[in-house]
Amino acid sequence: MKKESWRELPIGGLNVHPGNSVSNLTGTWRSGKRPEFIPENCIQCLFCWLYCPHLAIQVKDGEVVGINYDYCTGCGLCAEECPAKKKAIVMVKEEIALQEGGGQ
Ligand code: SF4
Ligand code: SF4
Repeated sequence: MKKESWRELPIGGLNVHPGNSVSNLTGTWRSGKRPEFIPENCIQCLFCWLYCPHLAIQVKDGEVVGINYDYCTGCGLCAEECPAKKKAIVMVKEEIALQEGGGQ
């Protein structure tokens, strides 16, 4: 996605593009940690889906099947709220690949 310069941005910094929640990949905010889904521990309570602020928990036919890293910010709420005896979501360290800037 092309970044707009300050000359192109609307006054007030409003995001005036309809459907921007789909095109803005909030997963690019993630740094350091990401959730890992462990299906064999999952009791399908859907708490993670309920609490995720970015709808990044993937559900198919009423069951959690994974995590959409394009939108996951790594906030850790899903892992925190997972009530399974053996956690079905754990936060793991993530290598960060800088895509722009950083002088590399
Ligand atoms: S870490 Fe946060 S954003 Fe990512 S799936 Fe869990 S609740 Fe959603
Ligand atoms: S909160 Fe944990 S046990 Fe419940 S559906 Fe999500 S991963 Fe599975």
